[in-house]
Amino acid sequence: MKILKTANAMRKWLDATTGRTVLVPTMGALHRGHGALIEKARKLAGKSGRVVVSIFVNPTQFGPKEDLSRYPRPFSADAEMCQKLGADAIFHPTPETVYPPGFSTYVEEHSVAAGLCGASRPGHFRGVCTVVLKLFNVCRPDVAVFGLKDFQQCRVIARMARDLDVPVRLVFAPTVRESDGLAMSSRNTYLDAEQRAQAPVLRRGLLAAQKAFRAGETSAAKLTAIVARQIATAPIARVDYIAAVDGESLEPVTKLKRGDTIALAVFFGKTRLIDNIQT
Ligand code: AMP
Repeated sequence: MKILKTANAMRKWLDATTGRTVLVPTMGALHRGHGALIEKARKLAGKSGRVVVSIFVNPTQFGPKEDLSRYPRPFSADAEMCQKLGADAIFHPTPETVYPPGFSTYVEEHSVAAGLCGASRPGHFRGVCTVVLKLFNVCRPDVAVFGLKDFQQCRVIARMARDLDVPVRLVFAPTVRESDGLAMSSRNTYLDAEQRAQAPVLRRGLLAAQKAFRAGETSAAKLTAIVARQIATAPIARVDYIAAVDGESLEPVTKLKRGDTIALAVFFGKTRLIDNIQT
């Protein structure tokens, strides 16, 4: 497995090898959720294809008061995991090479990115779109794999790729969870024992709403209230948002139909966790 640290090195390696390229963009601190994406990428690439995992903690998607400096960066363990899961290369650039002095060009999506996490984290999706388009330009993937845990991110990237004619096929993979339902996340390591014990209320709330929808309840207000009631059983949980939205446009809905999404962001202490469920 190759470890490539610059765009030039990546391009040279791509030119020197052949086969379909499948990219898995990550910020590292890899867990089984990322592992599932890499395994999926390996299947999509086949024996003759190339699986590239990018590991880059992207500064432009963090707000000024967010966790950029303390975000975990266990590169050796990450590299070992990539190797075990059959990745062919890791693209691991430094912030200085991704954003050279004078960097002044950004990509903004203005519709799907506007609400939910985009409203709570101004500039977040601008950073995501910019880095993902740069990763697409450097790695030239035929296919890129993203996780539905970051549901809005999937929709934003799909819109960006369509609007800017990026020749890539996007594959979205289901959320991998801990046995108590908590969505796996690199940020779960920030949780203390009490926060970790209460965090599964997110999944319980979303499942309760999904169950009520399947039993005939379609009111967004009622379904989000079911989620909120469950989350209120965790005394330290502080809700950022709970929203019912159209699964494609991410516009708020008042009545849910099949394929819509209930998405949430909730703080446990300083740690902000997200999750979502499809009706
Ligand atoms: P991150 O390193 O958090 O930027 O995530 C990199 C990719 O892994 C994104 O496409 C995420 O949606 C995906 N991902 C993160 N956590 C999970 C999970 N629990 N299950 C599936 N995919 C995930």
